[in-house]
Amino acid sequence: MAGIYIHIPFCKQKCTYCDFHFSIQTKGIPNFISGLKKEVVLRKDFLGNQTIKTLYFGGGTPSLLSPTELKEIVAHLKLYLKLDELVEFTLEANPEDIQLENLLAWKEIGINRLSIGLQSLKEEDMKWMNRAHSIAQGKHAIELANQIFPNAITVDLMYGIPQLSEEEWRTHIQYLIAQNISHISAYCLTVEPKTILSNWVKTKKITLDDDDQHAKQFEILLEEMTKHGYEQYEISNFAKNQQYAIHNSSYWLGAHYLGLGPSAHSFDGKKRYWNVANNQHYFQALANGSLPLEIEELSKENRYNELILTGLRTKWGVNLKQLFNIAPRNHQFDTSLLALKAKNWMKEENDFLILTEAGKLFADRISQELFLI
Ligand code: SF4
Repeated sequence: MAGIYIHIPFCKQKCTYCDFHFSIQTKGIPNFISGLKKEVVLRKDFLGNQTIKTLYFGGGTPSLLSPTELKEIVAHLKLYLKLDELVEFTLEANPEDIQLENLLAWKEIGINRLSIGLQSLKEEDMKWMNRAHSIAQGKHAIELANQIFPNAITVDLMYGIPQLSEEEWRTHIQYLIAQNISHISAYCLTVEPKTILSNWVKTKKITLDDDDQHAKQFEILLEEMTKHGYEQYEISNFAKNQQYAIHNSSYWLGAHYLGLGPSAHSFDGKKRYWNVANNQHYFQALANGSLPLEIEELSKENRYNELILTGLRTKWGVNLKQLFNIAPRNHQFDTSLLALKAKNWMKEENDFLILTEAGKLFADRISQELFLI
């Protein structure tokens, strides 16, 4: 099974914490689409004869493209890639773009899952984050999207936001629970270098909460999710009734994927491919018939450690057969595993290595203990 990721590198405005690749010069959209179409043709054989099960439009803000533009891209993809066995087709959408007309058009294009960037339910947060929507718009978008895409929306929420009280955080989660949202992703705000937020932190214009406050908010999240029947199937991802994100889960489990568009990454099991994170360079290279990418041959250690790092974050754990195909089981691994099992942090089930509830609190540290050095 394999997936396709399309990076749409445009946003309406720049969120202060964001370090993704995007441009607010939307007049570049026609050039981008023309470059993307050329890239599809040049890389159509990347996934060989693997079945493409997922298609994911991320960004940036894919919902900024008009339905006509999205339709044009999908029609082109269908010409060169075998998409008739798709089970999941996700569009990342921001609340300001979620209107009935768009929702119906997206459905018609074949999109069957929306990922909505809500982030917070505090008006002040929308302002300092420089989000393009208001809270009223955010709520309206969630409620409308949930009607048109029942059981097929996922919402991003953020914690660790300055001055977010525990009560406020709980009400944000409870709002989504009350709306019966089937999938929730909750991430702690991180300060990425070269963002406006990082500058504010350096100049003390903004003060972040400490790790203890973050841990408390994470605890509240786990408590609310568990109480309301959500399963934590990945450290930051929660689903009801096994409505897991298939595309993202395949990344975590080491599947192959083709990433198209500026800054998109691809993975073929051995090498990682990085497209240039510059819209103009991307378009120019493709206009000249060349691929705007760099290739990194992943070392055995990289592949092994990455599989541990991502696999352990999931409820499925690490596939040991897959792991020992990369490098054989060794004495160091067995010694570490024994110690982790003795602490009740880890279990082995049907050739999978899985964190226990207690182990989940130390996922990154445990991964490092099992790394191949
Ligand atoms: S809309 Fe998303 S991708 Fe665009 S700047 Fe904001 S967080 Fe970043």
